[in-house]
Amino acid sequence: MLSRSEAARQARERPLPAPGPRLRPAAPTGSVACKGCSRRFVLERYERALRVCPWCGHHGQVPAPARAAQLADAGTLVPVEMEVGDRDPLGFDDGRPYPSRVSEARQRTGLPEAFLIARAEIEGTPVVLACMDFGFLGGSLGSAAGELFTRGCELAAAEGRALVAVASSGGARMQEGIASLAQMARCTAGVSAVADAGLPYISILTDPCFGGVTASFAVQADIIVAEPGARIGFAGGRVIEQAAHEALPDGFQTAEFLLSHGMVDQVVDRRELRSLVGRLLQAMSGARGGTAAPVPFDAVEAVEAVR
Ligand SMILES: [Zn+2]
Repeated sequence: MLSRSEAARQARERPLPAPGPRLRPAAPTGSVACKGCSRRFVLERYERALRVCPWCGHHGQVPAPARAAQLADAGTLVPVEMEVGDRDPLGFDDGRPYPSRVSEARQRTGLPEAFLIARAEIEGTPVVLACMDFGFLGGSLGSAAGELFTRGCELAAAEGRALVAVASSGGARMQEGIASLAQMARCTAGVSAVADAGLPYISILTDPCFGGVTASFAVQADIIVAEPGARIGFAGGRVIEQAAHEALPDGFQTAEFLLSHGMVDQVVDRRELRSLVGRLLQAMSGARGGTAAPVPFDAVEAVEAVR
């Protein structure tokens, strides 16, 4: 039997167990991990880098208010407050009532719905910004979200502003059933109002962008740009493989794949996005004193002009 002092000496000399997941120190508060390379950053530094990883270039998701601030010229961003009310056409309850999920999303994001609508200027051109927030129930396109987007379009048409939309969505909002699907037509009508007024519309596709959003307003723009690596499609890849009974090509449903197949006009690093959108707007607006004047333009020429 060991003496007490001998047991204590052996305990001191025994190697410590290798750190496993349970022994790993908790991540410091205010830090964030890159989803591309798993490196950790101080949140403030990551925000300053526009949520683009300086090591691997991964583009992280951006909440709508931060996105609008990234795109707008300093001091020009004015969110448009719109009442949306409470909607629950099906009385949906999947163990938790739908209205409760909406109110929790409102508290978490500070937004009334999955869209932030704002007046702003981009490189001097007046615009209406319509930014989706994936944090609001997966950026799903419910009837209130569709109404916000459409009212944003009408605002752009009424005030002679260009429309710039940032899409980030999982698709339709299943809790609203057919009412959600109807938003594709409603948003399309909004886009038509902008087009009828002869105003430019630029759509920015960000990760992820799926379902009814990709099937409607996100791809109805004069110019469609996408962020690097963004996953963009209608149905998910696994669903398509099961339905088509064939393997999908590498990189299917990425921004780069869509660019090479003509569905996207340009893939743009987020750090270059504001400048590019500004130049596109000026090219499309005829640069008439910084206003988005309703003049005819050629989207292909505009993209070529700023390349
Ligand atoms: Zn990274």
